Amino acid sequence: MKLDISDVYSLDNKEITRKVHIEMAEFQSRQGKFPIQTGEPFDLTIANEEGKRLRLSGEGDVTVQIPCDRCLQEVDVPFHFVIEKEIPMELSSQEAEDDNDEAAAFIDEERVLDTDRLVFHEILVNWPTKVLCKSDCKGICPKCGTNLNLATCDCEQGELDPRMAQFQDVFNKFKEV
Ligand SMILES: [Zn+2]
Ligand SMILES: [Zn+2]
Repeated sequence: MKLDISDVYSLDNKEITRKVHIEMAEFQSRQGKFPIQTGEPFDLTIANEEGKRLRLSGEGDVTVQIPCDRCLQEVDVPFHFVIEKEIPMELSSQEAEDDNDEAAAFIDEERVLDTDRLVFHEILVNWPTKVLCKSDCKGICPKCGTNLNLATCDCEQGELDPRMAQFQDVFNKFKEV
């Protein structure tokens, strides 16, 4: 959702609170694309602090479908996020180079805040290191591909080779940032 906040920029100590709808349908990162099930709209407060900083604060929930690391079944992973950001409005040139990137990521030159990008960033920093459909997920047979939670197969499993165990969690490797 795009939120015009030019009035907050131009008036010292102005504060607004808006209902924010999460509009992005999927979370896309270098790990892939993950469908988003949006929750309730959340309140976002944008405050101009003495013409020096913009403070963004809010709290919300979003659910992202992420495949189980072992069996690839989609898992609804809830994210509760707390936004608490201070973005400098006036910057010395050196600070501007360091900090403008962050402001520019969310607010464009027309003073329009991209709330989806804000939520995207929250999902990114809260991304789980491991996703399992259940703690004892049996995973997929490495030989025939059967989902061992749903069925058994006739493959010789024997003692799980430790190298196979690593293989089962191979999807984790893509998650290490
Ligand atoms: Zn699983
Ligand atoms: Zn099998």
